[in-house]
Amino acid sequence: MVQTKNLGTLAILGGSSIRKREWPKWPRVTAAIQEELLQVLHSGRWAVSGAYMGKECNERRFSRAYADYMGAKYCIPTTSGTNALLLAFLALGIGPGDEVLVPGLTWVACASVVARLGAVPILVDIDQRTLTMSLESARKAISSRTKAIMLVHLYGSVGNLDGFIDLSQETNIPIIEDCAQAHGTEWKGKKVGTFGKIGCFSMQQSKLLTSGEGGAAITSNEQLASLMEQLRSDGRVFNKNPKIGQLELVEVGEIQGSNMCLSEFQAAVLLGGLKKLEEENKIRADRAELLKSLLKTNGFQSFEFDKGVTFPTYYNFLIKCDLNEFNNSTIDALSRAISEELKANINPIYKPLNKHPLYCPTKQAFVKTEEKKKLLDPSRFSLPNADAARASYLTLHHSLLLDDEEGMQDVVDALNKLRENKEGLLRLAQESSNIAF
Ligand SMILES: *Cc1c(COP(=O)(O)O)cnc(C)c1O
Repeated sequence: MVQTKNLGTLAILGGSSIRKREWPKWPRVTAAIQEELLQVLHSGRWAVSGAYMGKECNERRFSRAYADYMGAKYCIPTTSGTNALLLAFLALGIGPGDEVLVPGLTWVACASVVARLGAVPILVDIDQRTLTMSLESARKAISSRTKAIMLVHLYGSVGNLDGFIDLSQETNIPIIEDCAQAHGTEWKGKKVGTFGKIGCFSMQQSKLLTSGEGGAAITSNEQLASLMEQLRSDGRVFNKNPKIGQLELVEVGEIQGSNMCLSEFQAAVLLGGLKKLEEENKIRADRAELLKSLLKTNGFQSFEFDKGVTFPTYYNFLIKCDLNEFNNSTIDALSRAISEELKANINPIYKPLNKHPLYCPTKQAFVKTEEKKKLLDPSRFSLPNADAARASYLTLHHSLLLDDEEGMQDVVDALNKLRENKEGLLRLAQESSNIAF
């Protein structure tokens, strides 16, 4: 039986909101993080490019801990997820004349990082079921210029990974995994990020593991690891036998590097955060299961990961909305109304990259010829599945899943309130937001 309550005027129209309490704060401050930070403060070593002080630096400690956690041989921490992708593509030698397959639905950085190398991002439509790159469309998009396939485990969802691995072996085109939204997700018992040549992570504030800004690239390929280590520290690598008071980085210069090093403070925060990641992932997975079952008993649809996902993580929890049930309101109208009910930012998913307000690769100053502009023009790609998905999903940030069980009921109550208040829905402004999601 569907429970009906008198839920009153929509909060966006001046009624009282469903949610009365605060949601759990994110990022979280733990004793472990505070302790690690304080030690850096007084250590005299704030950067990997500082002098060795007789103790392994935090960046190395984190690198080892994260590689171990992931089941990879190497981890190269860096300043952002975007720069982790940049390291990966630079190490693979991708540049002008090359093409990289990028899913048409993802954060803008996935495509813009390719474009800034002078290469051409080929936007590939998604699979409706997993919201990740369609294997069939990817096959069709491959050309003699394709130098990499970027798989993005969007919102923790993994697509046809086995099919892509076969495709990569068949064509000899490497896979780069973007795991910025999937720290700890397992595919058939193995962590994502270890299937492709390189796995890239973001540790930006909203992510499952964070140091405010930060990122990491993992690989089990020694040569790629060495190149990425140099790429991110002006061509230098760690000395195996450092001497106290002397710089720990030694000059190698096998490739043109730049400075994309994580600071010792950020590495300290990550070391503290990593201790909690698994536990928090489990809480989120439990809450997500509960929320899915509440949605089902209340007659709402829910998004299911592919069966190959043996350990799920939730960067965002996806709610699929049948707009017919909401008086044919737009997803943007629903997102604004439910945000007021829940006192949280509940957004639609990203705008597809062929109409994303922040994706404008032809506006890069170095793009001068009409021919190059044509190749980069995002509007030349057609992404009907990404368009359809944009019109029907809402996303809850993972911090909401760190709440107690009653919090999950609040989410369902808010949806029920919207569904039952047809008059209220009629009064909502319907236009799409002019931002990225
Ligand atoms: C966050 C994110 C990035 C970029 O990471 P930054 O740390 O913000 O540079 C790249 N890809 C995806 C899928 C992301 O979610």
